[in-house]
Order: sequence, then structure tokens, then C-alpha cells
Amino acid sequence: MKLHEYQAKEIFSRYGIPTKRGVVVSHPEEIDSLNLSFPVVIKAQVLVGGRGKAGGIKLAPDAAEARRHAQAILGMSIKGERVTRVLVAEAAEIEKEYYLGFTLDRQARRFVAIASEAGGIDIEEVARVTPERIVKRHVDPMLGFLPFHAREMATAVGLRGERVTAFAGIAAALYHLTVGEEAELAEINPLAVADGTLVAVDAKLILDDSAAFRHKDRPVNEEMTELERAARDAELSYVELDGDLAIIGNGAGLVMSTLDVVAHFGGRPANFLDVGGGATTENMAGAMDIVLRKPGVQALFINIFGGITRCDDIARAVAAAPPPVPVAVRLTGTNEEEGRRILQEAGIGAFIDPEEAALEAVRLARGAER
Ligand code: GDP
Ligand code: MN
Repeated sequence: MKLHEYQAKEIFSRYGIPTKRGVVVSHPEEIDSLNLSFPVVIKAQVLVGGRGKAGGIKLAPDAAEARRHAQAILGMSIKGERVTRVLVAEAAEIEKEYYLGFTLDRQARRFVAIASEAGGIDIEEVARVTPERIVKRHVDPMLGFLPFHAREMATAVGLRGERVTAFAGIAAALYHLTVGEEAELAEINPLAVADGTLVAVDAKLILDDSAAFRHKDRPVNEEMTELERAARDAELSYVELDGDLAIIGNGAGLVMSTLDVVAHFGGRPANFLDVGGGATTENMAGAMDIVLRKPGVQALFINIFGGITRCDDIARAVAAAPPPVPVAVRLTGTNEEEGRRILQEAGIGAFIDPEEAALEAVRLARGAER
């Protein structure tokens, strides 16, 4: 999960990484009551990079100018993402921009520290065009990121004197943050020399979703739709698409192949949800509730290959709350006869063959359109 800059900076502060004071607002008028000193910088809070180039970052010498910029930026859409909030931060008087980041090198099975004296610009671009301007050091997971590693990197990017110590302190803190918060990427670009000291002008964090259960206090990614959030709370994996056929399956592989078969027959999935192995009647009821709440859903396709998941449990959920749209069900595996009987009693036929079921589901979604 990506974090917004303001969310990442809150975490930076907890780890002692220096940032400029700032406040998030969603209305330009809020700027008048902020206790910040000018000049300020107005920064679009979107999850895509390159906000500066897109016009989403503007300096303002006073409140009137700040309001005008905020007004303009709050109406913008950056790379398809609407701006609903801006960070208003005390501006830094930047002398020089550096890059500092930690990211997971999966091949090396360890984190790698990356630094560059070419900060403030896209680091991938720097790596491609002028790789000699980048220094890297892999971190031994047992030893951690040691002070001399940090000092060596600081010197390599051209820092001298007390700046080396300042850089080393920030790098150590960023490494602690990366490990402590279980981030896949922690990036400061630019890490700037401003007003005589080093300060994180920007903050980017991508957190490892698989570790979310260990971090209940993590902010919630605003990009999630209401339904995606409901699914996450119910511990169901749900993905939204833009078609008209809702899809429920058990197991990621089965769900993926269901999408393929549906697409093969010309269907357009509205979303898909994996109830996982061992889904109970309650899980299934919750799953149907979520996929059917998506506006524009014309039909539902339930594709279950019973193993630990029992077909009768699935059937009971469907029979107890028959969907308000036509439904095609494919049931095979554990307790399938019982499952089919329960559905039959509720007036719902069930397929054994997944292709026949998919064809019917696509037909139902089309039929309902007319
Ligand atoms: P990004 O474009 O999304 O990476 O957003 P950044 O926060 O990195 O800002 C982009 C650029 O805007 C930086 O590299 C700086 O050159 C400039 N910038 C951002 N904040 C400030 C600031 O406080 N003072 C000054 N002078 N420039 C800033
Ligand atoms: Mn940046």
C-alpha cells in the first residue's frame, strides 16, 4: 500500500527524520487559520509521483497566494487521480537536493540503501542515464545498516563535515523505519540541504500489505473504494473492475481462470471476490453482499470447486438470501449433491461444467441489459 506524503511524513516524525511543519487541508479557506510561517508550499496529496512536473506543487509567499494555489490544485486531476487534499507546509529554502532510499531487493533477499547527489528528479531515470551518480549498499539483515555504511554513502554523494553525521542519522532512522514499519520502499526525494540543515522535503512509503495484520495503526489507503474497504474488513480479497458480471470463486487460481473463461465468452466482470478455502455460510453471505452492492451489476457468477470449502455451506448462503440479479452457479466437490439439492429447492439450478456455467452467466448479464 502506498501512503500519501503527509501520512509518510507523520511516520518520518515518529522516527526522528526532520521534515518541515505542515497541515493537510481540503478547502482553501482553511489556510487562513493555520499557524504556519510563510512562504509555504502547497502540495497535491495523490498517490502518483511527479506531482511537481504536473503542476501539483506551488510555492506561495503569503496566505492570499497560498489560497489561490490551493484552489487551483484542489480542482486538478493528476495522472487520473483527483486531488481532494493538499499539504500546506513551511517552504524550505533549498540549496541542494539529494536522494536517499531503502528498497527491498528480492533477488538479493535483502534491503538495499540507495543514495545520489542527483536528487529531486526521477531516480529510475538517473539510474538509466547516469548510473555513476548513484551509490548502493546492500544491508545484511543480521548486522543491519551500520553507521559506517551511512557515512561512506554520505561521503560518496559528496557530503562533508557535520552534514555526513546528519545524513548518517537520517539514513539510520530511515532504515529503522523500513524494518519497523515493514516497508517495501522508503524514499526521500529530495533530501535537501535547506536553511543549513538536511530535511526530508518529500516522503514516499510503500508498505508491505502482507504485514498489515502486525500494524493495526496503519493509515487506511484512501484509494480503496467503500466496497474494497468492506471486503478487507471481512478478510475477503476483492477487486473492482468495470463490467456488469459479479464473480465469486474460491481460491485465487480458480477466480483467475473464471475471469479468463468469462472474458473468452465475451463477458465483462464487474468485480471478483475470492472467498478462499474453507469459506463458511457467513463468509459466502458477506461475499455476495459485497459484490452485489457494486452499481451496474446485472448478474452473478458463483464458481465453487469444493475442497475444504463445502458446497452445501455455499448453497445454504445463496438459498438464504437469493441475489436480486440472475445468478449462475457452478458447484463441484465436497458435498456437491447436498449443495445442488439445497439450491434446487430455492429454484436455482447449478452447473457442474465451468464453461457451461460461464456461458450462462455471460448470457444472463447480457439478457439483463436489454
Ligand atoms: P514530486 O514531484 O511528487 O516528487 O514532489 P516533491 O515533493 O519531491 O517536489 C518536487 C520539487 O518541488 C522538489 O524537488 C523541489 O524542487 C520543489 N519543492 C518541493 N517542496 C519545496 C520547498 O519547500 N521549497 C522549495 N524551494 N522547493 C520545493
Ligand atoms: Mn519527490
